[in-house]
Amino acid sequence: MPSRRQFIQSVVATATAPLTAACQSAFGPSAIDTAWEVQERGRFTFYTRRASFASQSVDRLFAVLDDQYDTVEAMLDVRYGGHVQMFLYNSGADSGLGDDHSGVAYPDTLAVRAVCVPPLDGNLMVLLSHEFNHVITLNTLGRAGTAFMTEGIASAMISERFHSQGRHFLFPWTATHAGQLPAIDQLMDDAHWHDRSEQVAYNASASFLAWLLDARGPAPLKQVFNAHSNQIVDQMRSAYGVPVPQLETDWKAFCARF
Ligand SMILES: [Zn+2]
Repeated sequence: MPSRRQFIQSVVATATAPLTAACQSAFGPSAIDTAWEVQERGRFTFYTRRASFASQSVDRLFAVLDDQYDTVEAMLDVRYGGHVQMFLYNSGADSGLGDDHSGVAYPDTLAVRAVCVPPLDGNLMVLLSHEFNHVITLNTLGRAGTAFMTEGIASAMISERFHSQGRHFLFPWTATHAGQLPAIDQLMDDAHWHDRSEQVAYNASASFLAWLLDARGPAPLKQVFNAHSNQIVDQMRSAYGVPVPQLETDWKAFCARF
């Protein structure tokens, strides 16, 4: 059997669109060099450059990710015992990722690599949380069947304990952009995932799944999580008892009132 390893890459762009991301899959993590300061905190080991912003921020970043760990377990009603390695770089060039606001998750090796530059704000916390969420999600629910589910769930579960760029960004964004959003059943089709901008695809999927988790809990979501594009619309109707367009209408009405 070929290697199941993959990486998922994301880019968090600006303060006004903190959840924009671009993820890709590949086979196997790339080589990681050895020039690291190592700090272990609970369920995480942080690898940082010596005397870097990241190395000085480990206590705070640990608090954010430790809370994120608990948040995902609660939102999905799962238990996860994994110990996750966070490799935090000084720049896009240092990381090989090219951009100062980018990260990659390696769910199969329980690792994340990400650029960690100041300020220590919601953008940075969202980036690290999103990548960590890929690791815990794949290792508890298995591989999502669609790009919609892979990327949407990683941002839908962002905890807002240390910032307000989770639901307090997603739901107002949905209300503001309601007239321009692709239909959810189209977003769930991997053949059409790239039809719109990454920002629209990522934010719309995250917002819809955040609402769905809050409104209906994790049980029906788990039933459809692994469904592929050609199955998910039918499986959603079966799991939720109503067709996707009805859920979509309810979601947009909720966001309009939020
Ligand atoms: Zn991602």
